[in-house]
Amino acid sequence: MVRGLTQWTKTLSFPARVSPQRPAKEAKVFQVSPSASPTTPPSPIGDNIDKPAVINEESFQDLEAEKAIMGSIVYCIHHKDGCKWSDELRKLKAHLNTCKHDAVPCSNKCGAMIPRVLMEDHLKYTCAQRRARCDFCAKEFTGHTLEKHSGTCGYEPLYCENKCGMKVQRRHLSQHKLGECAKRLVACRYCNKEFVFDTLGAHHAKCGRFPVACPHRCETAVLPREDLEVHLKDHCTTHLLSCTFKDAGCRFKGNRFSLDKHLEESTKMHLSLMCSVVTKQQHQITSLKSAISKLSLNYTGTLIWKISDYTAKMSEAKVKEGMELVSPPFYTSQYGYKLQASVFLNGNGTGEGSHISIYIKILPGEYDALLRWPFSHSVSFTMFDQTVVAEKACNIVESFIPDPTWKNFQRPSREPDSLGFGFPRFVSHEMVKKRHFVKDDTMFIRVKVDPSKIVAV
Ligand SMILES: [Zn+2]
Ligand SMILES: [Zn+2]
Ligand SMILES: [Zn+2]
Ligand SMILES: [Zn+2]
Ligand SMILES: [Zn+2]
Ligand SMILES: [Zn+2]
Ligand SMILES: [Zn+2]
Repeated sequence: MVRGLTQWTKTLSFPARVSPQRPAKEAKVFQVSPSASPTTPPSPIGDNIDKPAVINEESFQDLEAEKAIMGSIVYCIHHKDGCKWSDELRKLKAHLNTCKHDAVPCSNKCGAMIPRVLMEDHLKYTCAQRRARCDFCAKEFTGHTLEKHSGTCGYEPLYCENKCGMKVQRRHLSQHKLGECAKRLVACRYCNKEFVFDTLGAHHAKCGRFPVACPHRCETAVLPREDLEVHLKDHCTTHLLSCTFKDAGCRFKGNRFSLDKHLEESTKMHLSLMCSVVTKQQHQITSLKSAISKLSLNYTGTLIWKISDYTAKMSEAKVKEGMELVSPPFYTSQYGYKLQASVFLNGNGTGEGSHISIYIKILPGEYDALLRWPFSHSVSFTMFDQTVVAEKACNIVESFIPDPTWKNFQRPSREPDSLGFGFPRFVSHEMVKKRHFVKDDTMFIRVKVDPSKIVAV
């Protein structure tokens, strides 16, 4: 380091004690002006140097004078930076070679002048020529190229700007944001609206354009979700509606449109189907009726026949010739003869107009083939006197044992037209009026069939 004397003497300052060799009056050759170095602290100049001195080149001609100056006690020029050195001026130069506050060129040749005391820090942290390693890519750099490098290093992990929470190396960041980031915006491939990637699944679950399969697996393999309802209603080929007359036998199946058309066009066909249903049902009703009547058939051999609305029936019988009332059929036993009683309220034959006539008829029965013919059970008819006092009651009873020669007791044909056998003058109209045979407009007649041939009374 070569420093011109003028350079450093400009900043020189002196301790209070000044060289004793120099009288005050000779100080003219060594002037230090405070204006020459405004940052210099007030010079602790001694009593004998009372004026600021400016170095006068000519004065160096004077060796004596120089000697005297060089003998002056001065502070180190870095006194204010904390250097405590103070000695003769001539030793200053040597001191500065070691003064830790003196600036020297950077040993890394960056061109900066750095106080020795700061050199270590400079070389480590601020020297443009320092060697440094990037924390992220581990490459070596000089100081100023590292500064340029930092902020661009491809290996530096950065938080994704989309706030997905991921840290991604700078070099992969754009690829991440484009293809991997959970918070990237992506267009739904079905409806083209944009969604944050991690909500796309939820969107697909309700996206109207999302393709779904027809639940009936028709040939329309997939269709947009929003079209499914219409598809199922009107177009789905497998989810066909049956004709409303399906139960009547119509086999048509179709979607809503074609079904409507079918219903309009097939009125006649549907009507004839309905007709056959009605006919079928009629048969069913008939057979049900007969089943019911079989269930309610009387197999006891005794019939109590209740004739209600007597007055009306009697009036009708008086004006309507041959009006006959027939009883419900009954069997003599479970597998016995099938019989039916008949009554002519206004009489018949010899009793016509004056008596109530009563007969028994043999009807074709289920077990006729197994029974003995002619019919030979005794039959009795009883008309009940319904008087309140039971002891005073006087029933009318008539009975007979069948005459085996009488054709009415032969096995009946399928279509019987016989009157049967009985009593044309069973009870006279007069007797009916006298006794209580009719009460509450109702008459009771018992028909009893007995195989014992003993006439029951
Ligand atoms: Zn120093
Ligand atoms: Zn440097
Ligand atoms: Zn790097
Ligand atoms: Zn991200
Ligand atoms: Zn969508
Ligand atoms: Zn379908
Ligand atoms: Zn139909």
